[in-house]
Amino acid sequence: MGKATAGGCGKISRYKTHLGVPENLIEELARASASTVPCMIPYVTAFFMPRAAGDRPDVVPEGCVNYAFLGQFAQTERDTIFTTEYSVRTAMEAVYTLLDVERGVPEVFNSVYDIRCLLNAAHYLLDGRKLTEMKLPLHLKIAMRAGLDKLEGTTLLELLHDYALI
Ligand SMILES: Cc1cc2nc3c(=O)[nH]c(=O)nc-3n(C[C@H](O)[C@H](O)[C@H](O)COP(=O)(O)OP(=O)(O)OC[C@H]3O[C@@H](n4cnc5c(N)ncnc54)[C@H](O)[C@@H]3O)c2cc1C
Repeated sequence: MGKATAGGCGKISRYKTHLGVPENLIEELARASASTVPCMIPYVTAFFMPRAAGDRPDVVPEGCVNYAFLGQFAQTERDTIFTTEYSVRTAMEAVYTLLDVERGVPEVFNSVYDIRCLLNAAHYLLDGRKLTEMKLPLHLKIAMRAGLDKLEGTTLLELLHDYALI
């Protein structure tokens, strides 16, 4: 198990698995202690169909005073669908707008350009392995080493350490 590392954007888990089951017990537990009950989960293809601006109605279309669109297929600013938060945000937006309630809809967490979130995601995408452990052609390994040397003493190098990427 790796060392726990705190980061500015989420925390790197001490465990490789969601539930923190010790890795050496997984096989035995799966064989002797787990029951699997298969159940249907709906397909989710509609969420991922290509779409263009204007395909989905705004939550409160311009000029509307007594109806709104809620849920995953209504358009709200900046947010990404496939989350319950999206549906809740559209409902809040609809109620606050139509009833003129002076409350702000919670901001969408702005992770998309946050280097800490990107590094955190990279950590998990690499299954906790370090960038330096990636299988790369020799010339790319040399380039990475040179790049990392150039980062000596910078905040970026600290962040790479914080997110256990080097
Ligand atoms: C496979 C899958 C995995 C997901 N995983 C996650 C996750 O990990 N985290 C996350 O945040 N989100 C996840 N989501 C997304 C999340 O489940 C949905 O975004 C959320 O449930 C949408 O809530 P909603 O209330 O807007 O719509 P829904 O939950 O779809 O509710 C709409 C309801 O309206 C009913 N309805 C439809 N038409 C009519 C009608 N004509 N008359 C009466 N009732 C009607 C439907 O039966 C349904 O009960 C997942 C979705 C799927 C499909």
